Amino acid sequence: MAYDLVIIGTGPGGYVCAVRAAQLGMKVAVVEKNPTLGGTCLNIGCMPSKALLHASELFEQAEHSFAKMGVSVPAPKLDLPAMMNFKQQGIDGNVKGVEFLMKKNKIDVIHGRGKILGAGKVEVALADGRTQLVETKHIVIATGSDIARLKGIEIDEKRIVSSTGALSLAKVPAKLIIVGAGVIGLELGSVWHRLGADVTVVEFLDRILPGMDGEIARQFQRILEKQGFKFKLGAKLTGIDTSGPTLAAKVEPAAGGAQETLEADVVLVAIGRVPYTEGLGLKQAGVALDNRGRVKIDPHFSTTVKGIYAIGDVVAGPMLAHKAEDEGVACAEIIAGKAGHVNYDVIPGVVYTTPEVSSVGKTEEELKEGGTAYTSGKFPFTANGRSKVNQTTDGFVKVLADAKTDRVLGVHIIGIEAGEMIHEAAVLMEFGGAAEDLARTCHAHPTRSEAIKEAALAVGKRAIHM
Ligand SMILES: Cc1cc2nc3c(=O)[nH]c(=O)nc-3n(C[C@H](O)[C@H](O)[C@H](O)COP(=O)(O)OP(=O)(O)OC[C@H]3O[C@@H](n4cnc5c(N)ncnc54)[C@H](O)[C@@H]3O)c2cc1C
Repeated sequence: MAYDLVIIGTGPGGYVCAVRAAQLGMKVAVVEKNPTLGGTCLNIGCMPSKALLHASELFEQAEHSFAKMGVSVPAPKLDLPAMMNFKQQGIDGNVKGVEFLMKKNKIDVIHGRGKILGAGKVEVALADGRTQLVETKHIVIATGSDIARLKGIEIDEKRIVSSTGALSLAKVPAKLIIVGAGVIGLELGSVWHRLGADVTVVEFLDRILPGMDGEIARQFQRILEKQGFKFKLGAKLTGIDTSGPTLAAKVEPAAGGAQETLEADVVLVAIGRVPYTEGLGLKQAGVALDNRGRVKIDPHFSTTVKGIYAIGDVVAGPMLAHKAEDEGVACAEIIAGKAGHVNYDVIPGVVYTTPEVSSVGKTEEELKEGGTAYTSGKFPFTANGRSKVNQTTDGFVKVLADAKTDRVLGVHIIGIEAGEMIHEAAVLMEFGGAAEDLARTCHAHPTRSEAIKEAALAVGKRAIHM
């Protein structure tokens, strides 16, 4: 049977693209090499990490925060297999949800590894060893990304792990070294630190959370240090001696200098992710890659071959599930002859730690670099009533607005629930709103979101509660 659209990969990019295309009347099939649908995000990424972050956060609260609120409970005991089971139930629930969506939208699921033979032709190596040729008008590559590796460091997923292994450790490591102070490293570091690990983060750059607002990152580092995280910034891992009962990690200054050895039970390598195009046959099909191995696309997601498109982690842009989803929707709409579009200036980013960090739009560093005149309004949670009564006052909101037009260019939040709070800023920015619009929007009291309104008021130097 010939399809209108065949999508290779069922991560958030692929499965969302499939649903939207089916809604628009296309006959769609998805090809997935893994036994389960949902890609990195649902199986070994966003979802399992959030389940463990949630469970470990409550464990930590039961241990340290309940008593001061008058909730007296015995010291909590960790049942790690049960926590892992909680995580697995969450994964299963979400994966089944995607299976349901495929059925509901009459999307065929072909389990196997897809290879593009050329425009309109995908060959699938099925699990039972047979191959199936699938013919289609359009192809979308949504094959996502894989872990980035460090030269000379072999990941065994037991003692030297990637994020995948770090989501399934059999016991809490006494000492955990994390290589890379990005989002994934700090989230998984938080999980194991809350459960009792001594965590040291080694980062090549002289700051954590590269790419996020510098002031927010500095405050975040201070808070994590107060929690017990240790940071070795401007440092690089050069090797790991695995011969002993514990690992001996060799670390030296990024700029060169004396080497030191750090002991660890587990080393997590979290230095980023790389686009995944293995075995796709792109070269033979004429689909070009850029200098970083990403599939080259034009502004309409079209690759260098007509009728073949690409979306998500396998193309340029932030490696985020919601970016992949929005590209999936836009790409399906474009294939259907509609005006699909993604606004890359308004893609929120969240670090799901305690406190959370969230951001949308430009950082102060980016505005300075671009020579944009801007005003900044800040409001700390120490001055927000709801945060005060709940005694969750760490962090602040920062609103950056164009100095001439007052248009909001960026919003950055560090604090509990920051990940949920960022979206009012995203909506405002999507509509080209000004700090004045945000400041004059009535916010329910008492909420932490009032701090956003106050930060917007602070842009005009008229915050009320400060
Ligand atoms: C630990 C961790 C935590 C994360 N947390 C977050 C988060 O909180 N929020 C967020 O936004 N993002 C998060 N991410 C990133 C997020 O998972 C990715 O951005 C997202 O999954 C990208 O979606 P995608 O559809 O492009 O690709 P993927 O989700 O990687 O899916 C690609 C799919 O394609 C399949 N595939 C590949 N090649 C073939 C082939 N030849 N044939 C058939 N199938 C193939 C793969 O098996 C896979 O299922 C996290 C990532 C990790 C690792």
